[in-house]
Amino acid sequence: MHQDTKEVEARLERFVRDRLFPSIYSNKHPLVISAWEAAREPVPFYIAKEQEFKSVPIGWKFGRAWSTTWLRVSGEMPFIDQQEEFYKPEILVDFGYNRSRSGFQAEALAYSPSGTPIKSIAPKNSWLPWPIESEYIEFYLEVAANPDVAGEYSFAPTNFGEWETSPEVKLYALNELCIALLDERVWGLTQDVIAIQGLMNSLPDYSTRRHNLLRACENMLDIVSADDVSKNVQHARNALATVLNEPASASSHKVIATGHAHIDTAWLWPLRESIRKCARTFSNVLSLMQKHPKFVFSCSSAQHYVWMRDFYPEIYSGILERVKSGQWVPVGGMWVECDGNLPGSEAMVRQFVYGQKFFQDNFGIRAKEAWLPDSFGYSGALPQIIKQSGLDFFLSQKMSWNQTNTMPHHTFWWEGIDGTRVFSHFPSADTYNSELTGQELGFAEKNFAEKGRASISLIPFGWGDGGGGPTREMLGAAYRTENLEGSPRVSLGSAAEFFEAAHQEYPNAPVWRGEMYLELHRGVFTSQLRTKQGNRRNEALLREAELWSTYATLRTGMTYPAEQLRKAWEEVLLLQFHDILPGTSIAWVHREAEIKHQEISQTLNKIIQQSLSNLVNDLESSANEVEMTSNVSASEKSGISPLAVGIEEKSKGPALLQVIPEGVILENRNIRVIIDKTGHITSLKNLSDGREAISPNHVANEFHLHADLPNKWDAWDIDFHYKRRIEVLNQVTSYLYGQSEAGHVWLEIVKSISSSEKITSIVKEKLVLYPDALDLEIELDIDWHEKEKLLKLSFPIDVHAEQVAAEVQFGHVWRPTHVNTSWDHARFETCQHKFVHLREENWGIAFANDSSYGYDISRNTDANGSTITTLRFSLIRAARFPDPNADQGLHSMKFRIKPGASILEAVKLGYSLNYPERRIMGNRIIEPLVFCDADEVIIETVKLAEDGSGDLIVRLYESIGSRVNCNLRLNIPFETVSRSSLLEEPLDLEVERENSIISLELRPFQIATLRFYGVKQ
Ligand SMILES: [Zn+2]
Repeated sequence: MHQDTKEVEARLERFVRDRLFPSIYSNKHPLVISAWEAAREPVPFYIAKEQEFKSVPIGWKFGRAWSTTWLRVSGEMPFIDQQEEFYKPEILVDFGYNRSRSGFQAEALAYSPSGTPIKSIAPKNSWLPWPIESEYIEFYLEVAANPDVAGEYSFAPTNFGEWETSPEVKLYALNELCIALLDERVWGLTQDVIAIQGLMNSLPDYSTRRHNLLRACENMLDIVSADDVSKNVQHARNALATVLNEPASASSHKVIATGHAHIDTAWLWPLRESIRKCARTFSNVLSLMQKHPKFVFSCSSAQHYVWMRDFYPEIYSGILERVKSGQWVPVGGMWVECDGNLPGSEAMVRQFVYGQKFFQDNFGIRAKEAWLPDSFGYSGALPQIIKQSGLDFFLSQKMSWNQTNTMPHHTFWWEGIDGTRVFSHFPSADTYNSELTGQELGFAEKNFAEKGRASISLIPFGWGDGGGGPTREMLGAAYRTENLEGSPRVSLGSAAEFFEAAHQEYPNAPVWRGEMYLELHRGVFTSQLRTKQGNRRNEALLREAELWSTYATLRTGMTYPAEQLRKAWEEVLLLQFHDILPGTSIAWVHREAEIKHQEISQTLNKIIQQSLSNLVNDLESSANEVEMTSNVSASEKSGISPLAVGIEEKSKGPALLQVIPEGVILENRNIRVIIDKTGHITSLKNLSDGREAISPNHVANEFHLHADLPNKWDAWDIDFHYKRRIEVLNQVTSYLYGQSEAGHVWLEIVKSISSSEKITSIVKEKLVLYPDALDLEIELDIDWHEKEKLLKLSFPIDVHAEQVAAEVQFGHVWRPTHVNTSWDHARFETCQHKFVHLREENWGIAFANDSSYGYDISRNTDANGSTITTLRFSLIRAARFPDPNADQGLHSMKFRIKPGASILEAVKLGYSLNYPERRIMGNRIIEPLVFCDADEVIIETVKLAEDGSGDLIVRLYESIGSRVNCNLRLNIPFETVSRSSLLEEPLDLEVERENSIISLELRPFQIATLRFYGVKQ
């Protein structure tokens, strides 16, 4: 046979574009349109409706960036006599957007005249249903003129990230708003052809099936009338029916397709827009459900439901109804889809506690699958937190974005740092925004790594990132691939159905142990420092506020501020969303996050002050008021036990400062530091072992300024080539030293950065040694005006470290210092929480920080064979997309360095720096409410139960990776105690108790939660 495959394919393509699509609608009739433009921020329907609307014509230009335009639309129904049942009247809308992408441009929500949401309008879903029986058409459209901030992802700096900086130009136009007739037969033929084209393109050239499909299309093209597709459309469909009815093979891959809409809680739009994105997306989903009873929609994030409950009660009640019928499935069990690395220990727990609690209280269900398709890497602490929150499964997809290495599994057991395993899946379609095209389905099968052992994968489908969700076209694709030769078998279902089937089929799936490091987006540990600092500060304040208010409630009868604490938690959890905490949103989002964090801090500080004041002031005592100090760190401070308030012991003697020709020596009875005149540390010794920490011929505390020009994804990425350009800051503009009255000694150096910008950046650094301290403190004040630069602080340490410990939630991970494998090499910028610990046998050094997460480690060998392990903190960046002014201005942060420190001391140094003591006048010492006799066990949380019962919750964990038997003493009477889940529900586990002492055995990094009942005030 002569080959004409390419020609037939081209003929088909032209027919689809020029004949088929334009034939779906006919009989377009104009409507009467008037508009009202809101002043700035969105208003609810009932306010908009009362405004003065002015008549506008088709072609009218409107919508400066971020503005809202309300359209009132009306007209007579022109098709009232239409008898053909395959004709459906629909409203067609076009705001002049680019039709190639959904979720990133103008979108609208249609309301009935009484204010009931009908359905959304988006570039790829731009129609509204209308009943043919209606004689009159009337509705409102709330049009959000969201600018396309990303454009074609050139990553050029944009002014669209704030209202004020956005250009005053009208972005959209009323290109179409009419009523027309949809020909369901032509629409059906279109879906048939798209399904066949997709399948053809997924099959190899040599495939017989591929050619059968093509020739069926050719036959269809010969039959169909090009002048009027509707004329013999049924014959055309019949020509395709045979190939569409050929069944799938017995061994075909199985796909469970679950409807989904990944809605980024904030990103290239502010939080307020996400509320409307949820409303639009969910109204679209509810509208689709009316016609498609088999369609199941998986929807995460308690916060998104809360918005519907509070702002869109009609949509919320529609959701409740569909949850009840099982068509709408809440997934994830988290407050938001948060970052997978940065949230602190208790915050990661509360993502699940408040998420699951909301699902339970409002829907009567618990999510079974953790759902983080888009977060930038996953902490090794997550499996334990997921399992202890009552979830059995984990879903992600993001690891397919790895730049270097391919994750070996799609279905697997994920084992956490403590040994807990959770059954996990990465959709092999490599997307959470599938359209269920033939190409995507074919790729899902081709890419599925478990072939031969397992046969099923999950595909979440629906427009996502900017929301939108599934469309009727996607469902059309699903129906056509239920049982289709050459395609995976697609069935509509829930994620839980998938996980249960996958687990049953593949119980011995392979295991991935430890963290899942995303080999991309390495800048997210550092970008938008103030947002990160707000988070870190409030995580600490929440722990402190819960602890002291619990003490005050149980010991003084103060009312527990449950509502304020819950609200503060929910706000912090919201700001941990996977584009907010990582620092990858527009300026608007980060400005608001910083303000919100400040407000939360004020509330929490008030709770702490009030609680402490109640505790330390005994009104019946005649004792004099003295200065008291609170200690919520994990170790004794100046004679005060952890989680107690007492009177500080006097220091055993001041630290000393000595000026030498090379610079200064700061020294106390524990450590000795030599700093040269450029502020570099040339020597750092723990005096008890006398060992020098700094590598010979090297200096520490060196600022490295790098050009930071990612190939793409500016705020997200640090690319390896940044290392090739380095400037050491040596330009000292001020050099001061001194000794305070309190006995500490300090050296302050100011350095300037000669920038091409008009304003010079200033780095002020103070190195402080306190009288009895075992560590050196570094305080940084940076006035930052650089652009596309990365500032690092370097410490070359004389330690033969094979691997480095970095804190994660409830423990730490070990990461190699070498680059033997491509996996090690790709890990060139990683993250930590409060500490990093470098060690060789019998000696280590701890570095704690109060702000930053990013760091890098490298190793080198000096002339005599000693290993130089260099730790460099990533202090600050200045990406220009999506926030062109990211990180400009003043920043303060602190570090502490403790030479000769064990891993346990590193853990405690982290707590010590992040939980500074408070001073308060009082006349009563406060003993710890709860005390543990094992040093390595950290009491992370002391609070009252979420259910308002007054029960006491204590959460603790083994912090260094050892097995430990410990005794926990509660210094307050109680009736009974149980081990409980993170959700504070009792577990069927024995608790060994003798009077007020509980005995526990903990495995490495195990989290244990105790619930004490009948606690007496
Ligand atoms: Zn996302």
